[in-house]
Amino acid sequence: MTSVQQAKELEKILNEDRKTAIISHFNPDGDAVGASVGMRSFLLSAGKDADIVIPSRQPEFLDFLDPEKHITCYVDDKEKAESLINGAELIICLDFNRIERTEWLAYPLSSSKAVKVLIDHHLNPDTEKFDLIISDPGASSTCELLYRTLMCFSSIDGDPTRLSLITLTALATGILTDTNNFNNSVTPDTFLIASDMLRCKVDIDAINNMVFKRYSESRMRLMGHLLTDSMSIDPGLSASTIVITLKDREHYHFADGDSEGFVNLPLMIRDVEVSALFSETPEYIRVSLRSKGRISVNALANAYFNGGGHERAAGGRLYMPIDEVRGYFLKSLEQFLQSKAEE
Ligand code: 5GP
Ligand code: MN
Repeated sequence: MTSVQQAKELEKILNEDRKTAIISHFNPDGDAVGASVGMRSFLLSAGKDADIVIPSRQPEFLDFLDPEKHITCYVDDKEKAESLINGAELIICLDFNRIERTEWLAYPLSSSKAVKVLIDHHLNPDTEKFDLIISDPGASSTCELLYRTLMCFSSIDGDPTRLSLITLTALATGILTDTNNFNNSVTPDTFLIASDMLRCKVDIDAINNMVFKRYSESRMRLMGHLLTDSMSIDPGLSASTIVITLKDREHYHFADGDSEGFVNLPLMIRDVEVSALFSETPEYIRVSLRSKGRISVNALANAYFNGGGHERAAGGRLYMPIDEVRGYFLKSLEQFLQSKAEE
């Protein structure tokens, strides 16, 4: 199916008026929440309804996307989250390629008999788990892909003024956050869409301020501490590592999402090609990887960090004492580069 046919198929499914739940991934980011809110507000404008369920809390800086606190977070209300998924006849999955990325929602999601649609920009989606898959790993973000999809709907007919400002603002937020403010994964389409959005009076400046300029003082100080005391550079591997310990979390009053974006900083250093950030939680170590281009961190995360993602931005998890992660990372990267050199 072409992308236009897929869009028409989605429009048809939405017009069949099923009870709908929208879900995205664990640790939802701007793209996950933006796409969810954008999808829901589009449905509301079309006289339909949908409930948004997220597996874990969104970072505070995204709260402006959900002023009426409509989103149900599993961690805060397990019963409601489960009943919304169990009661749904249509489940729209956004911004993840594998059901396991929804963490504890994976079981209710896989056992649900609902029609399942996936809209996503990660590599290798789980094709057999969905009734309709709209996937484009070339898209900067799920929000970009959702925007392009909506443009193909007969009701929109390529006219962005037919989308509400709320929908456009939510989608713009996902594009801004996933591209790190138009820094990576951008395509000619990304800028055309941003241009459409600006013409439709989306306040990109305001989103920019909301998303990138609302650090708390302690978050800023945590960043300073990490750059000064934790970042280490391995010149041989052109790699940077930063470790956030449970002690740092406590000392700097760390909240969910507070380290968002920190992993990008070492890439500003001339000789750093790959940057890793390890964040200790009581259960596991959260891994964030970024690359300037030569190294596929998606493949690296798949091979050594129980995760995945995109070529230049990926993540995963480790289960080991926090003081062993730097050594593990450098050894893994070395092996990974060797295996690539031998290919
Ligand atoms: P971040 O470093 O911002 O948490 O994640 C960057 C990207 O890596 C996300 O957009 C997502 O695609 C991917 N990612 C993050 N954590 C995981 C994980 O635990 N498993 C997988 N498969 N992908 C992840
Ligand atoms: Mn995304």
